[in-house]
Amino acid sequence: IKYNTAKFITSAPDISRLPADTGIEIAFAGRSNAGKSSALNALTEQKLARTSKTPGRTQLINTFELSEGQRLIDLPGYGFAKVPLEMKIKWQKSLGEYLQKRDSLKGLVILMDIRHPLKDLDLDLIEWAVGCELPVVALLTKADKYAQGKRKSEVLQVKKALAELNGDIRVYAFSSLKGIGLTDLAWALDEWFLGP
Ligand code: GDP
Repeated sequence: IKYNTAKFITSAPDISRLPADTGIEIAFAGRSNAGKSSALNALTEQKLARTSKTPGRTQLINTFELSEGQRLIDLPGYGFAKVPLEMKIKWQKSLGEYLQKRDSLKGLVILMDIRHPLKDLDLDLIEWAVGCELPVVALLTKADKYAQGKRKSEVLQVKKALAELNGDIRVYAFSSLKGIGLTDLAWALDEWFLGP
């Protein structure tokens, strides 16, 4: 699949306002600042995803289309300390619903900074996805911050920590800056879009 044909279609204020639940979609999620926008931009070779750097602001769910019935969903970043508790709870609830009920959703890409992966909310999300039998690709972002040896040991450690969940979870080192892991990501997405 060519990811550089991705086109912005809509920004939805909440999950109920996403495009019709047909075809196949793949969602991208991660803590704010994990490098999600950079990853989407690197994958699509475009400046698609703009980053909202305003904590607590209502964030939109951006939808991109590769071709008809093939969508990438950019979920709002989570984990901002300053977001009011009420908003956090609302978001968690709607995210849970999305993972559970969205028929077209065929995979979740979760982005975590390689220097501090598997925070509580990351783990919650991965556990939910596994509970919904949704395959997961975990990208350990900003991998250029580490030398290759440390990168590999970090990937192994995360794999090990996630193994007990018994889910379909792949873990890759990733760097938008250096192009590390981009082909791993594209292959995983191809498989979800096209089937194994
Ligand atoms: P988002 O909030 O998850 O969308 O994160 P962004 O893509 O906006 O990135 C957050 C910060 O991390 C920015 O300052 C980026 O420049 C930086 N960043 C993103 N990707 C990389 C990467 O691959 N390597 C390094 N070193 N920094 C990155």
